[in-house]
Amino acid sequence: MHHFAYRDGALFAEDVDLREIADKVGTPVYVYSSATIERHYRLYEAAMASTAPGKPAHVFYAMKANSNLGVLKTLAALGAGADTVSEGEIRKALAAGFPASKIVFSGVGKAESELAFAVEAGIYQVNIETEGELDLLSKVAQRLGKRQEAVFRVNPDIGAGGHAKITTGSSANKFGVSFEEVHRLYARAANMAGVRIMGLAVHIGSQIREVDAFEAAYTKMRDLVLALRAEGHRVDRLDLGGGLGIPYEVPKDFDHGPGLIEAYAGMVAKLMQGLDAELGFEPGRLIVGNAGILLTKVLHLNPRPTKEFLVVDAAMNDLMRPAMYEAYHEIWPVAEPAEGAKTIAYDVVGPICESGDTFTAGRELSALKPGDLIAFMTAGAYGASMSSTYNQRPLVAEVLVKGDKFAVTRPRQTYEELIGTDRAPPWLP
Ligand SMILES: *Cc1c(COP(=O)(O)O)cnc(C)c1O
Repeated sequence: MHHFAYRDGALFAEDVDLREIADKVGTPVYVYSSATIERHYRLYEAAMASTAPGKPAHVFYAMKANSNLGVLKTLAALGAGADTVSEGEIRKALAAGFPASKIVFSGVGKAESELAFAVEAGIYQVNIETEGELDLLSKVAQRLGKRQEAVFRVNPDIGAGGHAKITTGSSANKFGVSFEEVHRLYARAANMAGVRIMGLAVHIGSQIREVDAFEAAYTKMRDLVLALRAEGHRVDRLDLGGGLGIPYEVPKDFDHGPGLIEAYAGMVAKLMQGLDAELGFEPGRLIVGNAGILLTKVLHLNPRPTKEFLVVDAAMNDLMRPAMYEAYHEIWPVAEPAEGAKTIAYDVVGPICESGDTFTAGRELSALKPGDLIAFMTAGAYGASMSSTYNQRPLVAEVLVKGDKFAVTRPRQTYEELIGTDRAPPWLP
């Protein structure tokens, strides 16, 4: 479930009227619910803790899903760790209060400077994706007089995900070392002074709504742990990644309950029983996805003989998912439509000069007019974090709600900030 609901004819985030946020902060604006984030984190954490009784289950929130400072601080306060994919994310995680001892560094292309920063900060674990990175990490850590704990991210050749662009676990994808290679790399790493290999990691994709693909990949991982141990290697940690999906298409009264989380945890518990490994998890979308909406205002109507365009003030630079993945977002008008109100099929589009700047085509909505507010639901994950300033549009504001309070956790970018960082070359006046 989430904490966006109609009250007396208007859409609220927890106890805050979205019209008030639009009035005070302007539109477009992302609005996040603390209660939803907390609920999802607690549910997930409790379910994962049940997978290996007596052993810690490490939950590293994948912060690329939503790296707003207010969201990060909310999760850090709940005791979450952070899964990061760049030096910038490590720096922001530290600034938000995640201890270095709970930070994991993933990603296919870590630069030497980034590895040095991570080692120096004393992070928990580097997830190594190539042999070159193994050598580089060992060299960097040795130079700093440290031995960095790390795991190998393995490509299980089982891909899954809501769209080809978010599938990562197939051998055709760029992620991870192959099953064949990992034996040799494990043996090589044993003699390296700068790294201590602690185990394995896997992450097969995103927006996965069935446990079957996870089960197939995790079965291979368990067998790999056993095979490596039989060769005499220590495998103490198994990081199972993220990727659990969320419902984007749901009726208003749907309970986004823990069903899938429980099925997933049950599968993991059964599969890993007796393995005696510390499990790690890296959820992103599941924690923040339906904890956020993008609030936008209708600018213009553009009726055509065959269809009607609804032009809103948000665009593909603010919410990329529809343009990039053909993703679906529910649209809820902020003023609750009357029961049985007549609907119109709208193409909802943004102001950007690309036809791809279309959020949806032929969507049945109650009649709208310029000035009306609508909300793109389930926009908390891969929304603001993927936004850009394309068309010289300032990054939009982000707001965090808690009960009847709200705070601007990222002000709308100013035009000075947007334009002022460019420099003219000296040969032009
Ligand atoms: C993106 C990513 C995640 C999180 O994926 P979700 O689908 O948002 O849960 C976890 N681990 C790694 C390595 C990632 O790249």
